Amino acid sequence: MTVLQVGVIGTGAIGRTHIERLTNHVTGARVVAVSDINQETAQSVAAQYGAKCYAQGEDLIRDPEVQAVVVCSWDPTHEKYVLAAIEAGKFVFCEKPLAETADSCRNIVKQEMESGKHLVQVGFMRRFDTDYRAMKARLDSGSMGAPLMAHCVHRNATSNSQYETKVNVTGTAIHEIDVMRWLLNDDIVAAKIVQPRVSKYVKNGQKDPQIIVFQTKTGIIIDVETFLHCQYGYDIQCEVVGEEGTIRLPDPAQVIVRQKAKCSFDILEDWRYRFIDAYNIEFQSWVNNTKAGIVDGPTAWDGYAAIAVAEACLKSRETGKWEAVHIEETPEFYLI
Ligand code: NAP
Repeated sequence: MTVLQVGVIGTGAIGRTHIERLTNHVTGARVVAVSDINQETAQSVAAQYGAKCYAQGEDLIRDPEVQAVVVCSWDPTHEKYVLAAIEAGKFVFCEKPLAETADSCRNIVKQEMESGKHLVQVGFMRRFDTDYRAMKARLDSGSMGAPLMAHCVHRNATSNSQYETKVNVTGTAIHEIDVMRWLLNDDIVAAKIVQPRVSKYVKNGQKDPQIIVFQTKTGIIIDVETFLHCQYGYDIQCEVVGEEGTIRLPDPAQVIVRQKAKCSFDILEDWRYRFIDAYNIEFQSWVNNTKAGIVDGPTAWDGYAAIAVAEACLKSRETGKWEAVHIEETPEFYLI
């Protein structure tokens, strides 16, 4: 297979950036078909890239010309498209979240295991970020001693006015949930949400900001601030405190300006710029691995584990207490 023929479901904000990426920044792939509920956008994207346009994602998945599928549609549709791709025996990259509930994710896991083949990768792109990878290499080397605590910040300048409170967890902190499981080689076993005062910039009743506290199996405590109306830019921070030192994510490299008795650097505006290299590496790796017939990235199991943790967070929002994460033992199929 010289060129992987990809079908992309969802031509919204991230779908369009992934189509552009697969076309101009990733080698060995071509977008041959697109689909979206918004047919106007889908048709215009299809015309721009010389791809076919389908009204239904299922028809795109069935197209024999489509060898692998990327799902970037609205969250509630992820499950049905991933299941259809598994049924068709096609590799599928699904943007986070894999599905909306742990039960739905478990269903995907079950179908993938029954198919007997790893086909699903979830879009947790931070695992491909050079700085997170450098942190992981240092932590894995043991030179920091055992990790004891971690402090994470996830701030967006503004957010979609239709977002409900749960999106702070299912759409935002889900990245920290996954990356901390991966970084610390540990599972999260309990979660609690603490609600600070709500920002005056929140107009839709969303409870923002939020602080989430996690406990891992080995006893590490992780605090995560999610703040989707911080006004000033997109800001991701992460620090791990070990027994013999601390390690933290650097700010993205920007020129430093000294002017008018101030020293400053730009903060990026949103996720598209902050993780652009990580997305490119993630997709190049997915294309290469798909051509080689393997999955080597966040699996359906990781998608399930992240949502199981998110569900404990949402429960804690209702009860105000620490809530246990209900997650099954990792099946051998996913111990890769
Ligand atoms: P988007 O711009 O809203 O587009 C997603 C598509 O879903 C659009 O076709 C949109 O149609 C449609 N849609 C939106 N609301 C809908 C509704 N209520 N009913 C039916 N369809 C609806 O979203 P996006 O930012 O591209 O996000 C797409 C997926 O990627 C989401 O699952 C998101 O969580 C994920 N994502 C991941 C990352 C990451 O960092 N990995 C970053 C961003 C997004 P319209 O064009 O008509 O609105």
